[in-house]
Formats: sequence, C-alpha cells, structure tokens
Amino acid sequence: MNSSDLKMFAAFVSQRMEMSESEWFIKPESINNVFNPVSSLPAGSEKKTLYKKKEDIIYQNKPDSSLEPHTGKTVGNDSITAQNPLEELYEAVHGCTRCQLGLTRNKFVFGDGNPQADILFIGEAPGADEDKQGLPFVGRAGKLLTKMIEAIKLKREDVYIGNILKCRPPGNRDPKPEEIEKCEQILIRQIEIIKPEIICAIGRISGQTLLRTKSSLSSLRGKLHDYHGVKLIVIYHPAALLRNPGLKPAAWEDMKFLRREYDGMEL
Ligand code: SF4
Repeated sequence: MNSSDLKMFAAFVSQRMEMSESEWFIKPESINNVFNPVSSLPAGSEKKTLYKKKEDIIYQNKPDSSLEPHTGKTVGNDSITAQNPLEELYEAVHGCTRCQLGLTRNKFVFGDGNPQADILFIGEAPGADEDKQGLPFVGRAGKLLTKMIEAIKLKREDVYIGNILKCRPPGNRDPKPEEIEKCEQILIRQIEIIKPEIICAIGRISGQTLLRTKSSLSSLRGKLHDYHGVKLIVIYHPAALLRNPGLKPAAWEDMKFLRREYDGMEL
C-alpha cells in the first residue's frame, strides 16, 4: 500500500467512525465537503461563498433535457459525463444513514427538476408516495403543486423541487430537530449548486424550519425572508389545500407573490 492508498484508507476509516454505521460512500472526500460546507468557511463569508452568481457556474457540458429527473444525471450522450455537481452530490449522499430515518426509508428522495432553476421549492420531508418512488411531491399534493406552478405560467420542469429531509419520517410525523440538523447540510449544498434566485418554502414546517422561527404560517406568508442570502417566501402546503379547499384563494395570492418577487410578473 503506497502513501496515497494509506491516506485514502485513513479517510475511509475516519468517515466510518464519524458516521457510526456501515454505509460506504463512493467519494469519501465529497461527503466531508457535504457535511461541513458552512463550518469550513471563514466567519461572515457564507453568503459570498455559498451563493455565487449563476454566470459563475462552470459546466464542462451544459445539462440538457436528457437529464435524469432526480439527480440531474446526464444520459444518452457519451460526450457529457459526470460533471454535474448535483449528480456528484447525489452520489456522495444517497446512501446516507446519518440519522435514524436512513434505516427506515424505502427510497432516498434527493430532489427533482432543473439543476439550474431560478426557483427552488422546498417541502419538509417525503411522504409515502415519495418514499415509494424516490421523487419529491408525486402524490396528490404533488400533482396540486404542479398545477400551482403552472398557474403562475411556469412548468414543473423549470423549477427544482426538494425537501429538507431526504428520507420519510415514519407515519409522516414532523421532522425532529436532530434530523433537520443533519440533513439540512445536504440541502445547503443543493442550494449552493443550484443557486436559485428565490426559495419557496412549502408549508408551515418548512418555513419555520428554514427560518428558525416558531412564527405562525399566517405571519410568514406574503413576506420576503432571507435564507443564507437567498430570497425566501413561504406558501401554503398543497396538502393543506386538499384538506381545506377554502384556503385556495389565499394560496393563489401566495403564488402571485412568488411570481412577482421572482421576475416582477403581475398575474
Ligand atoms: S434524513 Fe437526511 S440525514 Fe437522515 S438518513 Fe436521510 S439523508 Fe441522511
């Protein structure tokens, strides 16, 4: 074993000890980057370092419509290889068992959509349908979310959709603080890569979690917030609209506010 092999082996062992479980990551150096994105930055530099302008993104080959949905992985074109940072991130974390949810999930739900999206929708966690399919917002609520996006004259493929937690909490219970603390690091890396213009937190728990507040949904909606230097708004969760259709007029106001804050379009 040469010194380079030894170094790699030491990194693996160190990672195993840190993770306290049996998952082996394909790229040991990547996982360290994923789970220490903010702490490794000099104080006060998060915004500047985490959220570069879109034009600073360098793709060897620009992603196109042949992307696989959940990873941004490029298929069907040999000249376009694994240069997509979202794919690299997926490869690094899709076997994660940093919290107990990694042991009970059926499928890891990374996220889905345009890896260069201007608008990033973030829910709290996958539900039963998402856990089965490995894709976010694919059940009844997901279909309604697609309609809400189309109502503001965008397509679902234009945006990126993800969750704070990548694994389903059993019984759809609320995420626990320790789960959020561990999993949000992946989300922060996704935001760093996608560099959205605006984040749309879907529902009360997503808004409260991202903004570290206990404020009510009604007090969070209709306002512009800040999440690590990115504009953030909070909207009704489509599941709430399915339970209570009377909320739909207010939800429409949320979506119009999103479009207005994104590019000034009045609907
Ligand atoms: S919820 Fe997040 S931190 Fe927990 S196992 Fe799944 S990916 Fe890892």
